[in-house]
Amino acid sequence: MKKIKTVTVHGGHNPSGKIACGASDFLDESKEDRYITKKVIKLLKKKGIKAINCTVNNGKNQTDVLQKICAKCNAVTDADLHISIHFNSGRADKKGDGKVGGTEVLLTENVSDKGDIAKRICNQMKRLGYTNRGVKVNKGLYFLNHTKAPAILIEVCFVDDRDDAILYRKDRDAVAKAIIKAVVNHNKRY
Ligand SMILES: [Zn+2]
Repeated sequence: MKKIKTVTVHGGHNPSGKIACGASDFLDESKEDRYITKKVIKLLKKKGIKAINCTVNNGKNQTDVLQKICAKCNAVTDADLHISIHFNSGRADKKGDGKVGGTEVLLTENVSDKGDIAKRICNQMKRLGYTNRGVKVNKGLYFLNHTKAPAILIEVCFVDDRDDAILYRKDRDAVAKAIIKAVVNHNKRY
C-alpha cells in the first residue's frame, strides 16, 4: 500500500459518433466518460495529485484505441494508478423501474492499492444512490492487462437504464467527486 501521487485518467472508447465509440442510449458513454475524466483530473490537481489525461480520440478501431490508451498510460512512468472511465449497458430499462443499475469497478486482482480504491469508489457511489455492484475481478480486459502500474476500470452506471440516467443527470459532478474522495481517503492513511 502506498500513497497515490500520480494518476492517469481516460475516457474509454473513441469519441461519440466515430468508429469504436462507446454505448449510447439515455446517456452517451463517450461524451460522459470524457466529461467525468476532465472533472476528475481538475479535482485531483486541486488536491495536489498529479493527473494526466490519457483519453484517445483518433483510434482506427477498438484494438487501436486500447493500444493507444495503454501506450499513453505507460508513458507516464511515475504513475501510481491508471483509471479508465466507462459506462455500462445491458439493462434496457426504458420506463424506469425505480431500481438503479449502479456502479462496478473492475480489476485484474482485488489486492493492495487498486483493491482498496476500487472498494472506496463503490462505497462513495453508494452514498449518492448508485447501487453497489461491487469490485469485480476480470482477467480478460486489454486495458487492465497491458498497463504497468495498478489499474482500475470504473463502470459508472448504465446508459440504458432510465433510473441511472436520471440520477446521473441530476449531478454529474458528484460522480467525479466520489472518485476523488476514494483516492484522497486512501491517501489519508499515510
Ligand atoms: Zn465502455
